[in-house]
Amino acid sequence: MKTLAFLASLLAGALLLPAPAAAQPATVAMTAEPVATDTWFVQGQAAMGSAANQNFISNAAFVVTPAGVLVVDSLGSPPLAERLLALIRQRTQAPLRYVVVTHCHADHLYGLQVLQAAGARIVAHAACREYLNSDTARLRLQASREELFPWVDEHTRLVVPDLWLGEGGSESDLVLTLGEHRFTVRHAGPAHTAEDLVVHDAATGVLFTGDVVFRGRVPFVGQADSRRWIQALDRMLELKPRLLVPGHGPVSSHPADDLQQTRDYLAYLRQTMGEAARNLESFDEAYARVDWSRFASWPLFAAVNRMNAYNTFLLMEHETR
Ligand SMILES: [Zn+2]
Repeated sequence: MKTLAFLASLLAGALLLPAPAAAQPATVAMTAEPVATDTWFVQGQAAMGSAANQNFISNAAFVVTPAGVLVVDSLGSPPLAERLLALIRQRTQAPLRYVVVTHCHADHLYGLQVLQAAGARIVAHAACREYLNSDTARLRLQASREELFPWVDEHTRLVVPDLWLGEGGSESDLVLTLGEHRFTVRHAGPAHTAEDLVVHDAATGVLFTGDVVFRGRVPFVGQADSRRWIQALDRMLELKPRLLVPGHGPVSSHPADDLQQTRDYLAYLRQTMGEAARNLESFDEAYARVDWSRFASWPLFAAVNRMNAYNTFLLMEHETR
């Protein structure tokens, strides 16, 4: 009897073992929503990148024309880009022409190899080269191969873009025409990153902004050059876009409000922290004195405002010196 009970418990134990391969979900939900004529939007999850979400935390978009397809960003892993490609192929057999990389962060970048292999030319700003050649990029990929396995693995690589903006310090826009669509690719950095690009489609009035515009939340300013960032936002406001496709979060049909909000916040930081720096006030004093009530109800205010103010304080000390 004892032996039988032992065998039974062994069997039960075996049944309780997790199935080794099935622990990873096979897919995350991904759809392409029409947002303007010929224009499709794929929205990533509002989450940190993980093996469970396959690093599907950023957006992509594509514009389908008879002359070919333009894609904005490539998503955060090669399998996600395969799915993006399948969504494109459900809608057109026209050739994949261009992928514009809004900036060289892993979640916008790791799908590039799939789209390049499918025939697209990769467009990026020259400042991205520095990132691609950096230890930061190499170490990040190495870490991602473990953290995001099997979606990012030893076959995932950093793709060298085919077409560069900003070579030799040039600030000229790149104009790409496909069918009825005339795309202006413009350097908007240094803002969120040195290499930020935005894409404006004159045919639809859609502005693809990457991470230069934050919708309905306090922006993460980091080491950004907020003077250049404000200039870039002003130039985007001049375009009077009809629809804004951000790098994260939902599409906005009130682009001017979003651009203006990000601009107001940055301008307020520069004004208040600039004053403090000029008066040789300490940061703590200045931060306590400034009235933040305009922004205090925005999401992430508590998490990032003080750090944003501090970084701007240091920047303004440097600028006023
Ligand atoms: Zn991003």
